[in-house]
Amino acid sequence: YHLQMRQTERLRALGELASGVAHNFNNALTIIQGRIGLLKARATDETTLRSLDIMHKVTQDAANIVKRIQDFARVREGDSDFERLDLSQLVQETIEATQPRWMHRSGKSSIHVTCQAPLPVFILGNPTELREVVTNLLFNALDAMPTGGEIIINVYQQGDVAKLVVRDTGTGMSEEVKKRIFDPFFTTKGKQGTGLGLSVSHNIVSRHRGRIEVESEPGRGTTFFLTFPLAPVSLTQTLMTAPPLPALPS
Ligand code: ADP
Ligand code: MG
Repeated sequence: YHLQMRQTERLRALGELASGVAHNFNNALTIIQGRIGLLKARATDETTLRSLDIMHKVTQDAANIVKRIQDFARVREGDSDFERLDLSQLVQETIEATQPRWMHRSGKSSIHVTCQAPLPVFILGNPTELREVVTNLLFNALDAMPTGGEIIINVYQQGDVAKLVVRDTGTGMSEEVKKRIFDPFFTTKGKQGTGLGLSVSHNIVSRHRGRIEVESEPGRGTTFFLTFPLAPVSLTQTLMTAPPLPALPS
């Protein structure tokens, strides 16, 4: 619990820093764009106009980058965006959506993905965020299996919680790596990695009042265990599964 708290706080601090920088950067961009507009209105020769057009396009790109930072930094509060959803279905859909990333791998590096999610498991959550978590776990598993392997995914209900387990037969990780995987920007993938997948996922899972745990063995593989509270039983479900009322005495 403590570790999770520290993680959430760190990410929030990072988010605040990023959104502060983004805000100031945006102000500067607005001024630059305004000036470009003024100059364009007055420019007469072709070369100057072309340059100003390019400058305008590039500041637009910069504005889009800032927007991405702001989206990332927005640490949502509360759960007003949560909806009742079937975790089994969400996981199956996400696996399907990520298929292009592993389907074409064949021969020695072929990937075999199995998903066991036979029953609906209802939780309250933000589907976009949860799909992001599943995608991050799948992509990490794929990255850990450059010479092929298996990914096994299970979704089920256990007592009063929903469980999502993602297991791979990849490289696994050392204790030192395992300790740091949820740190923002920690990556062992050099330029290929951002080190944000798991820290963002951790943050999302916390926001859903869930837990994310990992077991890993170098050379054998890695398993991520996610736990979420179940959605309260809905009224329609209660009506459908409740025993019939005793007949009224006539
Ligand atoms: P990135 O994928 O950009 O490196 P992540 O936050 O998604 O960032 O992961 C952080 C690190 O955790 C990875 O660089 C890798 O070392 C380790 N890791 C995550 N998932 C796995 C996995 N399934 N198998 C082995 N190592 C993993
Ligand atoms: Mg990743």
